[in-house]
Amino acid sequence: MGLPPVDRSTLWPYVDGEPGDFYYQRYGHPTGAAAEKALGDLDGGEALLFSSGTGAATSVVLALLGPGDTIAVAEGCYFGTPTLFGVFERWGLKHVEFDQTGPPPDGVQLVWLEAPSNPFLTMPDFEAAAAHPAPVLVDATAATPVHLRPLEHGADLVLHSATKYLGGHSDVLLGAVVCRDSETAARLREFRTRTGIVAAPDAAYLLLRGLKTLEVRVQRQTETARELARRLDAHSMVETVRYPGFGGLLSFDVDGDPRAVETSTHLIQNATSLGGIESTMESRHRWEGDRVPVNLLRLSVGLEDVDELWADLEQALQS
Ligand code: PLP
Repeated sequence: MGLPPVDRSTLWPYVDGEPGDFYYQRYGHPTGAAAEKALGDLDGGEALLFSSGTGAATSVVLALLGPGDTIAVAEGCYFGTPTLFGVFERWGLKHVEFDQTGPPPDGVQLVWLEAPSNPFLTMPDFEAAAAHPAPVLVDATAATPVHLRPLEHGADLVLHSATKYLGGHSDVLLGAVVCRDSETAARLREFRTRTGIVAAPDAAYLLLRGLKTLEVRVQRQTETARELARRLDAHSMVETVRYPGFGGLLSFDVDGDPRAVETSTHLIQNATSLGGIESTMESRHRWEGDRVPVNLLRLSVGLEDVDELWADLEQALQS
């Protein structure tokens, strides 16, 4: 089956004088509904699209929590997440960081895990989180439903920056939340319509296109990343390699100047972001400061040949 056409209309005529399934784009549109169905089936829940992964995170927090509430967020997760939570402090929302390989702290109203965390690549203790009374969200951006379906591990919500592997081609900014129960999905949908943190039809179309090849891309990225992690681990200029054993994302610490290494690759782009078909690598210290080791490089493995990628890394490590 091919992809549905993109319907860019912002309005659809009423049916017999009443709104039909679609009537105004902010409330919903056919391409978005088709993409949400496809992603919901993959994750085993009810999916909702947002304008970005950050828009999805904003919506979860503001729709489900209130002033005085606290979020327990995985230490070493995507730095933009606690930074975003810091923005909400003005409105009385608090957050605490915790080691997600153990149980979340008491007295919090939302548990925010990341599987695996970016760029430290730790995995959460799902059992300990599920035993906590607060709802549990898992940001599974780097795992994708190919490797992990968090709702099967007791999570209540899954978040994806679909900008990354789900879109897969570095040409769409998009976020998604997949809900275990339809009541939470309804609250999020209402919040999304009211705030307008919505995904456009073209973005939804690019997600549908990306999902067609998701499994084959992610499996190939996993094979290549696993081999590169193994070779990096044995390299004399590399101190630490972090790789959870699956997925296309890894990080490593170089024994030397990380800037010299990141600017010396030819095949691997010195760029931010991850999850695309082309490999990217960068020092995360420039963005995250002392939260990460100064010599840490994050590598997002694309679809290039493993030996060509290794040759590129090897020559960059000599520089
Ligand atoms: N979650 C993770 C794990 C990410 O890596 C990112 C972006 O890098 C985000 C969320 C935010 O997503 P977006 O850039 O689509 O807003």
